[in-house]
Amino acid sequence: MKLYNSLTKQIEDFKPLKEGEVSIYSCGPTVYSDMHVGNLRAYAEWDILHRSLLYLGYDVNRVMNFTDVGHMSDDDDFGEDKLEESASKQGIDPFEIANKYIRSVLSDFYKLNYLSPSGELLDPEIDLEELKKHNWVRATDYIDEMIDFIKKLEANGYTYETEQAVYFDVMKYEDYGKLCGQDLREKEVGVRDEGEVDEEKRNPADFVLWMKKVGKYKNHIMSWNSPWGEGFPGWHIECSAMSSNLLGEKFDIHTGGVDLIPVHHSNERAQNCGVYGHDSVRYWLHNEFIRTPKDEKLSKSRGNALTLEDIIDGGIEPMDLRFHYISVNYRTPLQFNWEVLEKSRRDRISLLNRIRDLDVEDYSSGELLEDYVEKFKDCLRDNLNISSALALISDLLKSDEKCEDIVKTILDFDRVLGLRIYESLQEDVSEEVKKLLEERKKAREEKDFEQSDTLRDEIAKHGFKVMDTPEGQKLEKI
Ligand code: AMP
Ligand code: ZN
Repeated sequence: MKLYNSLTKQIEDFKPLKEGEVSIYSCGPTVYSDMHVGNLRAYAEWDILHRSLLYLGYDVNRVMNFTDVGHMSDDDDFGEDKLEESASKQGIDPFEIANKYIRSVLSDFYKLNYLSPSGELLDPEIDLEELKKHNWVRATDYIDEMIDFIKKLEANGYTYETEQAVYFDVMKYEDYGKLCGQDLREKEVGVRDEGEVDEEKRNPADFVLWMKKVGKYKNHIMSWNSPWGEGFPGWHIECSAMSSNLLGEKFDIHTGGVDLIPVHHSNERAQNCGVYGHDSVRYWLHNEFIRTPKDEKLSKSRGNALTLEDIIDGGIEPMDLRFHYISVNYRTPLQFNWEVLEKSRRDRISLLNRIRDLDVEDYSSGELLEDYVEKFKDCLRDNLNISSALALISDLLKSDEKCEDIVKTILDFDRVLGLRIYESLQEDVSEEVKKLLEERKKAREEKDFEQSDTLRDEIAKHGFKVMDTPEGQKLEKI
């Protein structure tokens, strides 16, 4: 299998540490608001990675976190804690905010058919205490491990302490710029909020490991005891502490969006190298962003940070959105507006209609077409080339293979695509529609065209257009 590694900036042969087993850490959502279409894209890409590895026969050991403390607005050391800010706006406790938006993430994952890190489709109503069993982990459950991690960095000479915080000293780590390919001296201290900046901070690129409950943060609600006084962890330490505790000091893949490369992941890498003396992550994988027509950042204030609920309200089904996300490779920027979504909706419906046109009665009756399965696997091994996988499906639909075998094979591919093809084929033509079709067939045989037209209109109300073809009535989703 080949994957693009952001650290070496090239496509590489993927060889897991342990043969047949892949360990993955996925940077998870910050649970202070509903996810927007950008966040949802990130998790679609890593769901495809997860499903592809399973399809290719690997055991997957994947962990994903919920960031419920320490992630500051604008990814700035001295911004507002996103959880606390949201809590004060909504007048509820930050822990309740986290619970509320963890539920929202679980619900979106379910609707979009994203696997939990443990590889199942989780009931979004699950008891939140059970999440850890499914490899969903909360940052606030790992405060002790974070403190231990900082202590090790301290012992290895990578930190310094001020009145306000404990920092990682980037000057002690020469390789800091490798992941982002950026000169760290380019960063300017306190450009955003000079008044709040810690005067004792030595280098603008130094970052907080532990923020003390003093100064700007004296009223911070979430805080814990530590060797450096009461306070809360920096954002980056959570992923280092959780990934190494759960997956070991070396693991295979780390995923996240490209926005995380210059700060969050560069810092995480520095922390791990500071403790272990070597990289922990073997392959860094990053998804490109959702782009709006004017190339604006997605944000609530611009009104373009749509949530899944907004998308559904706009008449687009979760599987249409999923189809839109997976139709390109994770490294391709993806256009986002209602027109392109509408096109993806039509493309997905057309795929379903082409399968329906094969007129297979029993979807499980055929045989797997091994040649096509091999070609499909080749697409996955080619840096998750789903667009060629979709082209392969199109070829398969045009092929002379037996219809039953074609359907059986496409349903097998859907273990990776996750488009719920089987359910869509089942659900769409309900018993009621089947009955109406039967009645219409009879009406046409009796040349009662008025009744046949009435029935056609009735079927249209269920979302289908009936076409009369030489092989009989055919349905097309409207
Ligand atoms: P956050 O909740 O801000 O921690 O982000 C969750 C994930 O969404 C991270 O992996 C981000 O890199 C990713 N992400 C944020 N915005 C976008 C976007 N516009 N397109 C794709 N991925 C994004
Ligand atoms: Zn992270």
